[in-house]
Amino acid sequence: MTEESDTYTEVTCCHCEGLGCIYCDRTGKVMVRRPARKCRHCDGVGCIYCGFSGWAGLKGKYD
Ligand SMILES: [Zn+2]
Ligand SMILES: [Zn+2]
Repeated sequence: MTEESDTYTEVTCCHCEGLGCIYCDRTGKVMVRRPARKCRHCDGVGCIYCGFSGWAGLKGKYD
């Protein structure tokens, strides 16, 4: 089963643009719920609602 990879997709962290930061565990990537879309609160800049990743539906935080 690949249920998790069907539900989530890997995107580049908006906060560090792939360089790695504390918000993406220094991987430069974050997992977000499909379809990947920018956070409506900050439009990808990063805010408390998106865990400062810039993406909506961040995995593991707001399930
Ligand atoms: Zn990052
Ligand atoms: Zn946001």
